Amino acid sequence: MANLWHELTPGPAEGLSVVYVVVEIPKRSRNKFVYDLKGGFIKLDRVLLSSLHYPGDYGFIPRTLYDDGDPTDVLIFANEPTDSGCIIEARPLGIYRMLDRDLHDDKILAVPATDPLFDSYRELEDIPPHFLEEVAHFFTVYKDLQRVKVTGLGWEGRAVAEAEIERSCARYARHLRTSR
Ligand SMILES: [Mg+2]
Repeated sequence: MANLWHELTPGPAEGLSVVYVVVEIPKRSRNKFVYDLKGGFIKLDRVLLSSLHYPGDYGFIPRTLYDDGDPTDVLIFANEPTDSGCIIEARPLGIYRMLDRDLHDDKILAVPATDPLFDSYRELEDIPPHFLEEVAHFFTVYKDLQRVKVTGLGWEGRAVAEAEIERSCARYARHLRTSR
């Protein structure tokens, strides 16, 4: 079975202005589907304990490794939910900084690069401010009933998001070298 974490590239071309996102959870789902990083399949990790749903498609960028030991997380701002396992070509516009159990677990915010509706979305400032509030709120309370403390640290723009993706690509490459 193909393992999309290892076998896909981070994006369709050189540079990180457009990245591949492997969708785990479709928008509006309450199911917490996760990609099994060893097995290369999607499994139901749990159902959100709170009566909340994901505010956008949610997944990860192949060949990245973030500070929490998982690939870099991405939330997609889109109208139409896709499906678990779908690959989206997405344009990163910003990053929401947060701590989950004291580890950095930041979320990249991106728009689908192949939906013309979002052609004019180029910077974080192009996203409706209320959506940024919804996302910040979701990620700071979605684990409340698990008694897991998540601390929101605020939004940063596209340049920071791209720099963090680049850093997570380098971390993945280092990890591969040292684990062989
Ligand atoms: Mg994470």
